[in-house]
Amino acid sequence: MSIPQPFLQELLSRIDVVEVVGRYVPLRKAGANFMGLCPFHGEKSPSFSVSPSKQFFHCFGCGKSGNAIGFLMEHAGMGFVDAVEDLARQVGLSVPDDHVAPADKERAAAARQRQATLSETLEKAGQDYRKQLRQSPRAVEYLKGRGVSGEVAQRYGLGYAPEGWRHLASVFAQYEDPLLSDSGLVIVGEDDGKRYDRFRDRVMFPIRNVKGECIGFGGRVLGDDKPKYLNSPETSVFHKGSELYGLYEARAAIREAGFALVTEGYMDVVALAQLGFANAVATLGTACTAEHIAKLLRFTDSVVFSFDGDAAGRRAARKALDAAIPHAADTRSVKFLFLPSEHDPDSFVRAHGASAFSRHIADAMPLSRFLVEAAGEQCDLGTPEGRAHMASNARLLWEPLPDGALKRQLLGELATLAQLDPLDLQEVWEQAAVRGRPPAVPAPRSTGDARRPARSEPGRSLPPSSSSGRRRRAAPAGRVDHAARLLLSHMEFLDTLSHEDNALLSAQDAPHGPLFAWIEAQFHEQGPLPWAVLRESLRGHSCEALAERVMTGAHAQTEGDTHELRLELRGLLNRMLAEQLRVQETEALAAASTDPAALQRYRALQARRVALERLAPQAS
Ligand SMILES: [Zn+2]
Repeated sequence: MSIPQPFLQELLSRIDVVEVVGRYVPLRKAGANFMGLCPFHGEKSPSFSVSPSKQFFHCFGCGKSGNAIGFLMEHAGMGFVDAVEDLARQVGLSVPDDHVAPADKERAAAARQRQATLSETLEKAGQDYRKQLRQSPRAVEYLKGRGVSGEVAQRYGLGYAPEGWRHLASVFAQYEDPLLSDSGLVIVGEDDGKRYDRFRDRVMFPIRNVKGECIGFGGRVLGDDKPKYLNSPETSVFHKGSELYGLYEARAAIREAGFALVTEGYMDVVALAQLGFANAVATLGTACTAEHIAKLLRFTDSVVFSFDGDAAGRRAARKALDAAIPHAADTRSVKFLFLPSEHDPDSFVRAHGASAFSRHIADAMPLSRFLVEAAGEQCDLGTPEGRAHMASNARLLWEPLPDGALKRQLLGELATLAQLDPLDLQEVWEQAAVRGRPPAVPAPRSTGDARRPARSEPGRSLPPSSSSGRRRRAAPAGRVDHAARLLLSHMEFLDTLSHEDNALLSAQDAPHGPLFAWIEAQFHEQGPLPWAVLRESLRGHSCEALAERVMTGAHAQTEGDTHELRLELRGLLNRMLAEQLRVQETEALAAASTDPAALQRYRALQARRVALERLAPQAS
């Protein structure tokens, strides 16, 4: 859906960024502007400023800035269209969508309406469950016994589904309403068509999407009945493979702590929030998928997985490793925390204290080490056979790593372990790849979202109109132009970009920066779209001319092997990052005379830049 530029201007002129931001961040008047604590980075004194005259926010600490729409997207995790619709509702405007065919419009509206109705139904049930909790001494006692305070119970919206087969009949006027069964609240018997409540006598954990809408529930028994945990089924609003429990509640804490802590269950999330670790989330009774990880990486570049120390925890960790490997770019940190076998995070913190848990987190195993360990599992590295087996396992773990410094270092490390030269090891792997992949290990990327086009199939996602032959003038093949071209023609490449990459791109001078921010917003909301669709959505947009130029100019060809093109983009980004690091180095060096930490910062920046430049030797 495209939103006409005049409408956006009208909308932005009617809303007040101070009021929009003020709903989320306490602001105080300071001169012409308003100041508050930045919601995007942890800070003790305010450096976050909101300007009523410019209708813009800006943080002098972390550099984040934008208008009201950008704020809702960044802070509330909304997609572009959702943010616009949210703001439009507040000022009583309705978003025009003239560019969409009427049939599509109707279908989209019906789907939206249906999802909203499902969410409302779930929300209504959740409200009742909260009321029931207050009236159930047993359930209150259970939560108290787990150390959960009223405040945390309220923050997570915990409730209680009472005993009885048809409790919800007293909540909803029509127990036969298909919405109740479609939302998973009511089960319809297969044989007799009899209806009954799915959740009975359970503590209820509402599951919210990043917009805060209720999309399902998890329920835990109070005693030792089975199953201990019960989730809503898959519905049109609830997809276990991509939703994380607690992400909505944890967003601010994740930014503040600088990382997300992924645990195994809702009770871990709630108990950890109680104990001061409000940045925890959990998968919903499924193994961690690549899509879970992609979602988390939109909020942070650093993820720590926590697993119980038993065999099941170890297996779950191994699945998370497979899902994380394709996302392990050099700018990201993925770590694995293994608790002692008798503990879950809750019991560990109670037994050893919060600071011991923090230390454990800091010492968690980096992905690189876990990968090497996983490769060598059940291999006797004291024998040539064992080392060969390890080398064979390692190929399937190493290959999906994104190209970069980490991948190259691991090649060296695995080769040393195998007692082979890195070149020999690669040759062995290439031969094995030619002979065909052993079927044992599923490729991690296949655990992701099946709706997205397969990434490794060259040519499948070529933009339909990039070869239309419309040529104008020879546009300068600038680096930033080319990055824009690659992303407009292969939007799915955004999947592997880090927070840092995205920040770098949107910080480019206009019109490039806004174009990148726009592409990212589209991707965030709708997944990868072909150029033809993007072209339509860009009509009237301030970046339209730029996009049109890079996609139709003499350099517009982006056909070819998608893997190569991906590497090309990575190379461009590395060079842009290196330039940015150079600027920061100069700043750090200038500060070194007064700030002793600046010299260290300078060295770290320099080391990183040198590593990046080694990866991108070719000039452009
Ligand atoms: Zn900030």
